[in-house]
Amino acid sequence: MLDQYGRKIEYMRISVTQKCNLKCIYCDPDGENCKDSKDDSLTPREFEKVVRSMVEAGIKKIRITGGEPLLRRDICEIIYRISEIDGIEDIGMTTNGIQLLKMAADLKAAGLHRLNISLDSLKPEKFKFITGGGDLKKTMAGIDRALSLGMTPVKINTVLIKGINDDEVDDLIELTRDRPIEVRFIELMPMGSFGEDNRDKIIHNDDLIATRPGLQYLERTDKGSPAVYYQMAGYTGKIGFISPMTHQFCSDCNRIRLTSDGKIRPCLGNNGEVDIREALDLKADNFNQIVRQIILDKPKGHHFGADFTSSRRMNMIGG
Ligand code: SAM
Repeated sequence: MLDQYGRKIEYMRISVTQKCNLKCIYCDPDGENCKDSKDDSLTPREFEKVVRSMVEAGIKKIRITGGEPLLRRDICEIIYRISEIDGIEDIGMTTNGIQLLKMAADLKAAGLHRLNISLDSLKPEKFKFITGGGDLKKTMAGIDRALSLGMTPVKINTVLIKGINDDEVDDLIELTRDRPIEVRFIELMPMGSFGEDNRDKIIHNDDLIATRPGLQYLERTDKGSPAVYYQMAGYTGKIGFISPMTHQFCSDCNRIRLTSDGKIRPCLGNNGEVDIREALDLKADNFNQIVRQIILDKPKGHHFGADFTSSRRMNMIGG
């Protein structure tokens, strides 16, 4: 369906847990969500119910995220339930890949189509520093596994931070030489105190493009995608640039988010959320109507200006 600004809302990101097994410096550096906190996440049945209503309202694409979605023991059940819903055309997942080697085949069998894997460094020590203890070998093994299972294109998400990992841009681009991989550089967003305090460490994607004449622009095929794509001549994979800080793409935004604790957040960079848990618990007759109204009311654009403070960190919303 169309929202109040005429955007066709077709895509929902679902955070299935706030918990994570990493402590990325720009996301959850103190590991608040690595701790064994009480988990009030929705059940697979509840996620299914929300998605069914969303499909009635026009949602076709789902991305499962978190926290770290692979920490949910019932992750395959969640995927399976969603994949069985008529009208769902695509299910992807964003993961840090740490547990992917052993889980990828089951995820695929459950109905998962595609994977976005976060990878901020190709250097083991730096990877460990950025992720608060992560093992690069595990994430790389997860990427290889996804490729060997044919879950292509595998998308790599890289958040660049000035002085930390911006020296690795060309090495990351090299990953696309022989692999059907899309490496996507995401501008650091002011979600959480690191992003808020380090606005001067944002790497502007335009600068990366301007200094790499070998990059060839690719015509946009998916208007709803936040990424603008390029390719190095003769390479197999592509390079994507996601630039929420320097190029607002809100007028093309086609997505809404569901948090693991049952809030719909129609815009990442706007603290407005609607709690649907009570309506779910009460099995409200007008649940479909509630969902439609939330979509209709999606805000016009994000508030990532100088004074924006997110009410939640990214791991509590779902990146
Ligand atoms: N645990 C999974 C993972 O690591 O991919 C999924 C959740 S994580 C919050 C999803 C994505 O959000 C990751 O690619 C991460 O790099 C990105 N992210 C988190 N905080 C961010 C920030 N402040 N700015 C830009 N991207 C951010």
